[in-house]
Amino acid sequence: MNILQKTRPSSFIQVLVIAVAMTGGVARGAGQARSGETVTQKLTEQYENSPLKVTPLGQGLYVFSGDGGDVTAIVDDGSTLLIDSGLASRISELSDAIFKTTMRPITRLVNTHWHFDHTGGNTYFGSSGVTIISLENVKRQLSSVQNIPFVGLRDGHYPSQALPGVTYSSSMTLQQGSQKLTLENYGPAHTDGDTVTYIVPANVAVVGDIFSNHFYPIIDLASGGSIDGMIHSVDRILAQTDAQTKIVPGHGPIAARADLQDYRDMLVQVRQRVKDLIAAGKTMDEAVTAAPTKDFDAKWGSGYVNPEVFTKMIFSSLSGTGASQ
Ligand SMILES: [Zn+2]
Repeated sequence: MNILQKTRPSSFIQVLVIAVAMTGGVARGAGQARSGETVTQKLTEQYENSPLKVTPLGQGLYVFSGDGGDVTAIVDDGSTLLIDSGLASRISELSDAIFKTTMRPITRLVNTHWHFDHTGGNTYFGSSGVTIISLENVKRQLSSVQNIPFVGLRDGHYPSQALPGVTYSSSMTLQQGSQKLTLENYGPAHTDGDTVTYIVPANVAVVGDIFSNHFYPIIDLASGGSIDGMIHSVDRILAQTDAQTKIVPGHGPIAARADLQDYRDMLVQVRQRVKDLIAAGKTMDEAVTAAPTKDFDAKWGSGYVNPEVFTKMIFSSLSGTGASQ
């Protein structure tokens, strides 16, 4: 029996999936499930139907994955602190699994950024008195409607109980039992509200959607994200971690620092190729045709961001076009 209030999430947290094809072209990338299907539709379908998995990290840390963004739980003698809250549609299942695993009430929740697959449980937990913590920008983004047609997402205007009650501007520390959590923001990357959390002595880094393991990431340009910012934040994380660090990505299995290094190298090489195409005067469609991700697609191209969309995101980020598209 969950001691948290057993209610369905508020109906006005909804992901309003709007049927806007990514950039107006016919979708034809390698990983594209259906023509015209948006990144948000693909992501939502995937996470509404994947089994919920629990992975123990040791020292009272657990990762719950499959129901949206990865959710990290840090348990002490009397409480559980969560990082991210999954999809709204699966919050009862997630909440039950967390309580069954930790046997402690959730008292604090950190949001890595504002996206619905990481904040979907905010209303549920916030209504139960859980303190929600984030970067200042996340509160702003959750407070009003956000429109991201590039990936087909319209969301936001969450109820007051779902909003962060504690915010920070660049760095913050929290203590959860014997674990010290350091929350850091390295400037705009995946969005302009990203939090990376280092947990010691467990030696775990929870990095949110700055890293997707292992598929091409969304770069949310309309929320202030950029390819340069993604690479900058990854470099900062690499500098703060070691070969033993367990890295919890925004999506996908727990990674090692070497996996993050591979991801960084992919981002840097694709950025350079797209830069060269822009310098040669190519249009966005011509850049897609040039397939600058080609040799990376086998490893990174099978997620909900296909090679075409990823190329377009980087092209838009570097050329300053399509920031709101
Ligand atoms: Zn995200």
